[in-house]
Amino acid sequence: MAAQLIEGKKIAVKIKEELKKEIEDFKNRGIQPCLTSIQVGDDPGSNVYIRSQKRSCENTGIKYQLHKFEEKITQEEMVDFIQKLNQDKEVNGIILQMPLPDHLNGRALQRLIKPEKDAEGVSPANMGMVVYGEPLMGPCTAMAVFELIKSTGVDLYGKEVTIVGHSDIVGKPTALLLLDKFATTSVCHIGTGERGTLPEYVRRGEILIVAVGKANLIKGEWVKEGAIVIDVGINRVEGKIVGDVEFEVAKERASYITPVPGGVGPVTTAMLLKNTVTATKLQ
Ligand code: NAP
Repeated sequence: MAAQLIEGKKIAVKIKEELKKEIEDFKNRGIQPCLTSIQVGDDPGSNVYIRSQKRSCENTGIKYQLHKFEEKITQEEMVDFIQKLNQDKEVNGIILQMPLPDHLNGRALQRLIKPEKDAEGVSPANMGMVVYGEPLMGPCTAMAVFELIKSTGVDLYGKEVTIVGHSDIVGKPTALLLLDKFATTSVCHIGTGERGTLPEYVRRGEILIVAVGKANLIKGEWVKEGAIVIDVGINRVEGKIVGDVEFEVAKERASYITPVPGGVGPVTTAMLLKNTVTATKLQ
């Protein structure tokens, strides 16, 4: 039986509708939440994200500002600029667009953003709250994955979860969010892939989350019958956007599956807006 699609777009609309009410309340008090975005250079992928962030912000009532710098900007100039934004009372949320040129230390710059303005939820303080099980402004993609799983109504207690990819912004925080609900969580990475045990872990996953960035890395036949599949990957293949999971085969085995595009992406953007609203409340 074909899996039910987890429609990220619809879930995102619902989250944004709820946010609109809170933003309306702010506006009645003379406050307009403001998300400020910093881009260095002109990466095409990043331009796509910026356009979608701007559209979502404006549709929800959040002011979106973009500061674009040439690639030659120095670390010191970036530090000064971020510190200015930290002090600026008009700015509620800050997002540092990736990729950055090699001469800039992205982690150091991200660490500079005040935790209460960290709209992406990637600062050590916000990551720390995820470890504590109190994710006030958590990493957007991990929070989106959690929302998508929640939308299926599954009880996470004791469930076998397999996560493929252990990045700081997706794999690791997603594992922590699920551990907190007493799921039994395995996190796979390049070592698992190279050892050849990836299919084994995938076959065990009653919930499978894949965040790697390699098209069709996960073969559909590895997917456990009845599994919930969340595909975070974004890959361009012959002009089409696809995920990391072999969708056509996987959907015949899974009970729920996210489409790519239209699954994790829209909910990640909704989480960015949610963090901006939380940031505004905290200030
Ligand atoms: P990342 O930092 O590059 O992490 C990729 C992870 O995959 C790493 O942990 C890597 O392990 C692991 N990996 C690589 N090859 C593997 C293999 N053969 N077997 C098992 N694991 C392997 O990427 P990311 O930022 O987490 O993003 C992952 C994907 O999600 C990308 O396609 C990105 O575009 C997409 N993404 C989508 C959204 C959205 O909103 N839809 C948001 C964020 C990211 P090592 O580190 O050990 O090499």
